[in-house]
Amino acid sequence: MKYTSLFLDRDGVINRHRPADYVKTIEEFEFLPGSLEALRLLSPLFKHIFIVTNQRGVGKGVMTVRTLEQIHAYMLDEIIRHQGRIDHIYVCTDIETESFNRKPQPGMARQALQDYPDISFPRSMMVGDSVSDLLFARNTGMRAVFIDAGIEKKEIKPSLYDARFPDLYTFAEKYIKDPDV
Ligand SMILES: [Mg+2]
Repeated sequence: MKYTSLFLDRDGVINRHRPADYVKTIEEFEFLPGSLEALRLLSPLFKHIFIVTNQRGVGKGVMTVRTLEQIHAYMLDEIIRHQGRIDHIYVCTDIETESFNRKPQPGMARQALQDYPDISFPRSMMVGDSVSDLLFARNTGMRAVFIDAGIEKKEIKPSLYDARFPDLYTFAEKYIKDPDV
């Protein structure tokens, strides 16, 4: 097993990103087509599966931590109901762009390593749809997988990622056939 940990961005990878807005309620949380199926396919293939998500809306007071937790409880229920799994969700609610815990800084990866000491970053993949996700991968030594149907419509430098897919399902389909994506 070459890759043992999977780090996933949330908005734009698992659920639909709301441009210039936040997912503030369960009603606003919309799974992207195929993302639940992708998590079902990927679940047996990784020892650890994490979500690492910047949620500045909490820091700004647009929603409360409690609401965010309710949204995540709903998300996890749906993932489990579709036979997938997420082992831990790491959230950064900080407003400051330079925050160590906010992607692209590596803080959430460090938190995961404290919780799961057997994580190896060279054997980890980060799947995300924004530059900050790809830089997070570069800053931690993870493989960077770019989902290009999400928030970042502008061209992203190919040097920032190791593989590129239109959505999580396409990534999962490829990964189950060949983990060297
Ligand atoms: Mg995103």
